[in-house]
Amino acid sequence: MQYRFCPQCGAPLEVLPLSGRERHACVEQGCGFVHWNNPLPVLAAVVEYEDKLLLARNAAWPEKMFALVTGFLERDETPELGVARELKEETNLDTEAVSLIGVYEFMRKNELIIAYHVKASGTIALSEELAEYKLVAPEDMRIWSAGTGFAVADWLHARGYPVRFFDRQTGEDIPDPRRPNDFSLVNGSLQYRL
Ligand SMILES: [Zn+2]
Repeated sequence: MQYRFCPQCGAPLEVLPLSGRERHACVEQGCGFVHWNNPLPVLAAVVEYEDKLLLARNAAWPEKMFALVTGFLERDETPELGVARELKEETNLDTEAVSLIGVYEFMRKNELIIAYHVKASGTIALSEELAEYKLVAPEDMRIWSAGTGFAVADWLHARGYPVRFFDRQTGEDIPDPRRPNDFSLVNGSLQYRL
């Protein structure tokens, strides 16, 4: 998302160095708008339903491309209630328990993923946003290389299940793609080397 005109006063925005980066900013006197373009938080759910993990295919996605249920947080909503609401809206499932898995980058879309494990029950009925779903046993899970996939990987790893990544283009198994030079495994968890 990039603005050409100021959403506050309508003047054309200019590119200025601010807080260490080039930003689109308004130079009209008394306005002061700056488009900081910070990442937007997105909620993602690793849904456990009848001892399986639920993956969904968005109606806009290609055939066979499945991932987690995701959604944006609403104003005045806690992330835990937000992920339960999204799950209800998109699958009709009820949330029994929510726990944080972790927070993951999704730089390609300028988003930050907040991933929860959600234990769910009820009867599945998909919203129009989703085209289909599948239920996968944790031991059979193959993981895509992106922010929400890393959440699945961490959840599986914490429970002793195999962590197997695959390439979405070729369908072949690939090694854990998480920047192995930047990370080191300390006491069973990935540590970022700054
Ligand atoms: Zn302005």
